[in-house]
Amino acid sequence: MRIDIITIFPDYFTPLELSLIGKARTSGILDVRLHDLRSWTYDRHSTVDDTPYGGGPGMVMKPEPWGEALDAVTAKPSQGGHGDETAAPAVPRLILPTPSGVPFTQAHADRLAAEPWLVFACGRYEGIDSRVAEDAAQRMPVEELSIGDYVLAGGESATLVMVETISRLLPGVLGNRESVAQDSFATGEMRHLVEGPVYTKPAVWRDHEVPPVLLSGNHGAVDRWRRDQSLRKTARNRPDLLESMPTDRLDQRDRDV
Ligand code: SAM
Repeated sequence: MRIDIITIFPDYFTPLELSLIGKARTSGILDVRLHDLRSWTYDRHSTVDDTPYGGGPGMVMKPEPWGEALDAVTAKPSQGGHGDETAAPAVPRLILPTPSGVPFTQAHADRLAAEPWLVFACGRYEGIDSRVAEDAAQRMPVEELSIGDYVLAGGESATLVMVETISRLLPGVLGNRESVAQDSFATGEMRHLVEGPVYTKPAVWRDHEVPPVLLSGNHGAVDRWRRDQSLRKTARNRPDLLESMPTDRLDQRDRDV
């Protein structure tokens, strides 16, 4: 998968050199390219913002640098060029992180992980002039996504969240793919559930014991216990998920929990 990120703070993305994502980049599973929006400014101060039309506080990101940046980054790779056109598909999907977007969920991550090419545009100040999205939508699919009901200072941390969530789903990134299926919100049985408590050795730590069923070796009993714990934790912390769960997803034993 290719991911392009346009930002005024490329250094914000050094964490993408670490851990699973760093390894995925080294092994060629993930091709992340960072672009400094200020490369597409031409004044002495590399200005990317201006006062809002209609008045009001704050500044708005100017459309010109964004338009040029998106044109350049999403340009169809030239044939027989400089070896930089590694099988990129013709059209990327543009992701605009914004608190006014659709809430980003694991279902979005599942879908976006199947895309060959994503471009993230990181806003700052009061956001990006709205004509940028309008213009881009004439050439590529555009999605406005929010990582939660709160306002960050910029789209960089939201992009990091989404890139990490999407990247760990790519084949070859996680050592054990099965763990994905058991995660909170995973496709299938877990879609409307969070994962229950987890434990490792030692069996007793500071007088706290691991639940005996986990030491029993009875896989059926362990699965049932995990399901019960998952239902209880979801009811406690995320009752909204259970409310949206199709009723045929619950068996009789679930209803008793
Ligand atoms: N004036 C905007 C509003 O009220 O919707 C908030 C702008 S915010 C200060 C600056 C930038 O941070 C946004 O353009 C967006 O890129 C990013 N951002 C802030 N909160 C976000 C969130 N919850 N999810 C995704 N991106 C967010």
